[in-house]
Amino acid sequence: MSEHEDPFNNALTQLASIADILQVDPEYYEMLKSPIREITVSLPLKLSNGTALTFTGYRVQHNNARGPYKGGIRFHPKVSLSEVKALSMWMTWKSALIDIPFGGAKGGVSVDPRKLTLDDLERLTRKYVDALEQEIGPEVDIPAPDLNTNAQTMAWIMNEYSRLKGHNVPSVVTGKPIELGGSEGRSAATGRGVAICAREAVQTFLKKEMKDVTFAVQGFGNVGSNTVKTLMEMGAKIVAISDVAGGARAKSPSGHFEHSYDSLLQESTKAGSIAKISEIEEISNHELLETETDVLIPAALENQITEVNASKIKAKLIVEAANGPTTPMADKILGRMNVNIVPDILANAGGVLVSYFEWVQNLNRDHWAEDMVNERLELKMKKAFYDVLSYSQKENVELRRAALVLSVSRVVSAMKLSGWH
Ligand code: GLU
Repeated sequence: MSEHEDPFNNALTQLASIADILQVDPEYYEMLKSPIREITVSLPLKLSNGTALTFTGYRVQHNNARGPYKGGIRFHPKVSLSEVKALSMWMTWKSALIDIPFGGAKGGVSVDPRKLTLDDLERLTRKYVDALEQEIGPEVDIPAPDLNTNAQTMAWIMNEYSRLKGHNVPSVVTGKPIELGGSEGRSAATGRGVAICAREAVQTFLKKEMKDVTFAVQGFGNVGSNTVKTLMEMGAKIVAISDVAGGARAKSPSGHFEHSYDSLLQESTKAGSIAKISEIEEISNHELLETETDVLIPAALENQITEVNASKIKAKLIVEAANGPTTPMADKILGRMNVNIVPDILANAGGVLVSYFEWVQNLNRDHWAEDMVNERLELKMKKAFYDVLSYSQKENVELRRAALVLSVSRVVSAMKLSGWH
């Protein structure tokens, strides 16, 4: 990893880029630069095959000026403290930007979940909760799904935490199965929010309707697949999709996928990868980023668009479904190329937004209908999008800088009002 690709360095570079515009007092800027708490835990686990391993888990709590810490937990072999720190800072900005009463946190375990049995994964998740019991809680820090974790993982977290407390505590975690107090619409929320931002950005910058616009989507996990689904419902044309195993460019006469969303999902699940389905040309993940398309949606990992490939991007608009997919160096190059970028903290905020709806429903012992969740999601996403757009037009700055200025100023004002110094 080059110096520029260290995720926490990138998060700090972004913060530095707006400190001048905001004129943040040095003492507040210093406080924002480092997370309030960084917790590293050792998780020894005897696997069902008899091997004894020790995994490393993290929970980083960046800032709680606006409310309890909030953010997902990822399971991935490349999880590192730097990555979790960056992601926790981005959660602080994201919650503030979408204007929900949460701070920012992130967690992770350095593990390849595909190499563990379901039973081992459950025991590892429970160990992680045991180690962090004192640090999480409905009013303290509320985890959620992220890369390679899902509603099942959240059910284990809720159950383990509730077991330790001696009573049921659904509001300790969001993204749970519906049967256990999860919210309707939560699993599709991030992808839906991405598609809503994409639609507004297409109207604003490309001056086109969705049916006349092509999209390439990198990633076909929870976020990527729900983004594709919603884009297809909006009538958009998808020309390329990739997943961890590789990419697929549509090979139909029209140039875009003519499969229904359900058949894309079924075929890719059956074949083991989107790169193995019918009527496609197989491409690499790198080729996907450089493919001929109007809009590019990175929905996989951070640091995908770097100074190496930025100049080869053909899209005129990028909507960041992943966290941190564009490095600050790539950002500059794309800026010079007049590529508009809807930044991660705006584009993918639908997930944490519906997490907030879930938490509110849990605290009120309530359950909202899916239509109500989706209507509120749409309203909040559009408001955040147009707030960022109007600031960016007024001050003549890119969308990322506008989004950061709005969110950081909200966090600083909460810190000042509470007297944090
Ligand atoms: N992991 C998601 C994110 O990066 C959701 C976090 C949450 O719902 O707390 O935004």
